[in-house]
Amino acid sequence: MQNSVTYTKNIELAYSCDIAVAGGGIAGVCAAIAAAKHGASVILVERFGIPGGNATSGGVAAFCGENAGQGAVFDEISAMLETLHAIGPYTPYPKDNRKFNHELLPFVLNSLLEKYQVRLLYHTRVADCIVEDGQITHLIISGPSGMQAIGAGYVIDCTGDACVARAAGFRVMKGRESDGMQLPMSEMFFVRHQTSAQCVPEGLLARIKDQDELPMTSIWPNGPGGNAIKVKIPKFDATDTESLTAAEIFARKRALQVTEYFKTVEGREWMFDRCSPIIGIREGARILGDCVLAVDDLRKGRQFGDAVAVGYYCLDGHSPDDDKRTYILPKDELAVPPYHIPLRCLIARDGKNLMMAGRCLSADQLALSSARVMTTCAMTGQAAGMACAFASAEKTEVRKICVSALQNALTENGAVLAIGRFN
Ligand SMILES: Cc1cc2nc3c(=O)[nH]c(=O)nc-3n(C[C@H](O)[C@H](O)[C@H](O)COP(=O)(O)OP(=O)(O)OC[C@H]3O[C@@H](n4cnc5c(N)ncnc54)[C@H](O)[C@@H]3O)c2cc1C
Repeated sequence: MQNSVTYTKNIELAYSCDIAVAGGGIAGVCAAIAAAKHGASVILVERFGIPGGNATSGGVAAFCGENAGQGAVFDEISAMLETLHAIGPYTPYPKDNRKFNHELLPFVLNSLLEKYQVRLLYHTRVADCIVEDGQITHLIISGPSGMQAIGAGYVIDCTGDACVARAAGFRVMKGRESDGMQLPMSEMFFVRHQTSAQCVPEGLLARIKDQDELPMTSIWPNGPGGNAIKVKIPKFDATDTESLTAAEIFARKRALQVTEYFKTVEGREWMFDRCSPIIGIREGARILGDCVLAVDDLRKGRQFGDAVAVGYYCLDGHSPDDDKRTYILPKDELAVPPYHIPLRCLIARDGKNLMMAGRCLSADQLALSSARVMTTCAMTGQAAGMACAFASAEKTEVRKICVSALQNALTENGAVLAIGRFN
C-alpha cells in the first residue's frame, strides 16, 4: 500500500525579515525582542493567539531559578508585571519561585513585542522550511491566510519541539538515551472554592480512593478563592501527534478525577473551574548543537569561555515512568551549583543560520531538566536573539560572530554571566 505522497504547491512569499523566530513562549518572546532591540527586522510566528507558551497557555505561573540578572528583556517583563501588581516579590535563588498572574502575562508580552516593533503572526504554525546547503532560506507557515512563505536571513527555533530543525532534517535529541522517553507532562487545572455539590456522576470516571492512588499532584495558590493544581501525566510523547492527543484527553480525565478525590475523600470545598487550554510539556525535542550541555557540566558548575547564559535551578528531572512524585536521580543528587550555558549550545550543528533557545537547547535530558525553567529560557532567548542580530549586522554565520563582543553586549543588557553572583 502507498504510504507517502509528494506534495508541491506554489505559495505566496508574503514576508521577509532579518530574523524569524518560531514559537512565542518565554524563550521566543525574549529572542524576538532582543533581536529587534538590536536593529534587526523580526517576525515572530506563534501557533496560538497569545504569546507565553507554557507560561500562559500551559498555566505555569511561577518563575523558578534566579530571577535577577537574566537580561534586560526579562527585567522589563518582570517590571511591567510589577506595575500591574501581577507578580510576587523578588527573593534571590534558592528562595525563588516568583509567582505571577498568567492571565496578565500575554498582555505584558504583547505590549513589549509591540513596543519593540516585532512583527507578530498569531494563529500561524511553522509547517516546513526550505534549506539550501545547510542554510534555511524560507519558513513555510500555515495560518488563517493559508500557506505562505517567510524569507529570513536567520531563524531561531523556540518551539520547544524543534519544529524548524526537524522540518529542516537537522539532528535532534529526544528523551532519555535508553528509550527516548521524555520528562513527563503535567496538566495545570484550576478549582474554585465553593460549597455547593458538583460531583461527577457515579460510574462515569474511576474514583481515586486514597493518597496512594493519587498521581503526583501539586497545589499552588492562585489568587483569592482559587487554586492551581498540577497533575503529572507521564509516558506520552509530545512530538507525536496521536500520543499528544491521547495525553490531552487523559489529562482532562485526570483533572476531574483528582478534583473529585479532593472533594469526596478529603472534603475540600472545591469545584472544578477550568483546565489550561494545552497540557504542560516539559520536554519535546532538543536540537543537536555545536556543543551538548551535559549533566556533569552542571554538577561541576563548569565555566565556558563562550558562556552566554547561566543556569541555577536544580536537576528537576521527574521520572518519566510513573505518575508518582519520583525523580530520575535520588533527592540528595538534585542540587547543582550555578553553571554556564555556552553559545555553542544555541547553534544548530547541522545548519548555518539556525539558533535555538528555551526547551530546544542542545543539552542532555538531565541538563535540560534544570535549564528548562523560565528564567533560564528567557536568558537563552535573549542571547540567541542578540547573537542573530550581530550575525545579521555583520552578514556572517552565527558561529562566526565575535563572542566577546556578544558577551559584553549581553552584560550591558542586564545578563549576569559571572557565576555565583547571587549565592
Ligand atoms: C507543568 C509544568 C510546570 C512547570 N513549572 C515551572 C515553574 O514553576 N517555574 C518555571 O520557571 N518553569 C516551570 N516549568 C518549565 C517552563 O514552564 C518551560 O520549560 C518554559 O516555559 C519553556 O519555555 P519555551 O519558550 O522554551 O517553550 P514553550 O513555553 O513551550 O513555548 C513554545 C511556543 O512555541 C509555540 N509553537 C510550537 N510549535 C510551533 C510551530 N510549529 N509554529 C509556531 N509556534 C509553535 C507554542 O505554541 C509555544 O507558544 C514547568 C513546565 C511544566 C510543563
